[in-house]
Amino acid sequence: MPSSPPAAAQPVLRFAPSPNGRLHLGHALSALTNERLAQAMGGRLLLRIEDIDRERCRPALDTALREDLAWLGIIFEDGVRRQSEHFGDYRAALDDLHRRGLVYPCFCSRQEVKAVAAVHAAETGEPWPTDPDGAPLYPGSCRARARSEGAGEIGRPHVLRLDLERALAVAGEELAYDVFDASGGVTRVVAQPRRWGDVVLARKDVPTSYHLSVVVDDALQGVTHVVRGRDLEAATDIHVLLQRLLRLPTPLYLFHDLLADAEGRKLAKSRGSESLADLRARGVTAHEIRRELGFF
Ligand code: GLU
Repeated sequence: MPSSPPAAAQPVLRFAPSPNGRLHLGHALSALTNERLAQAMGGRLLLRIEDIDRERCRPALDTALREDLAWLGIIFEDGVRRQSEHFGDYRAALDDLHRRGLVYPCFCSRQEVKAVAAVHAAETGEPWPTDPDGAPLYPGSCRARARSEGAGEIGRPHVLRLDLERALAVAGEELAYDVFDASGGVTRVVAQPRRWGDVVLARKDVPTSYHLSVVVDDALQGVTHVVRGRDLEAATDIHVLLQRLLRLPTPLYLFHDLLADAEGRKLAKSRGSESLADLRARGVTAHEIRRELGFF
């Protein structure tokens, strides 16, 4: 009997805000881009709350962001995934990397890393290399110690860092991912994880990091198309490496442009950009926001 061809998997997209401030127009653009692409592809649209930062994330902001999205008229599938409820999943991934010698404990503070960079610059006249977010690359002091002494008993507070060179050796050559566009085109991009150095995979205060949880969750939720702003394009280098190390699928990616304020700076909660709630309070309608952002 002839067997029918397997049905093409239904695309799965997600919008993944952090409840550490009110949503602004940049978030609206990201959520609406996800909504439009999900509709165009007949895909599912998930909402994930990225609240691993227990200091900055607040339940009231979680409620508020869901109200803002409902006000915009964006409908997500039932069953919101909240990262703070899934630390066990991230722990399992870390344990796997730890068993394979791919992470090590690091006790250095940010100030110590900055001090190494400053001494280097003063002694050589050359700037210390920085990662795509502008932070100095980790100089590797704790990596050298962990490699010679092993992890041992760790009583003191520490972060867990990826041993990047070991990780690349395990991952093998040709780390790449595909960027898709709305018309169905796909472009292959070579990932450059070396520009990040030994990234932190588990913070001192929480047993995970943005990079680790986003990769684990995209896989557990079956996300096939990651649609997010250009500010997270470079981070994809690390995400693709982690997917390879953890034997997880690599989704397709699309990075949308960022909205700028009147001074040409990226909208940001930290810069006090006008929130959707502020706009609503001064009488702007959801319809006007959609139109303004090009979604009608
Ligand atoms: N939670 C991240 C943010 O609010 C987005 C994560 C992602 O889309 O990968 O910037």
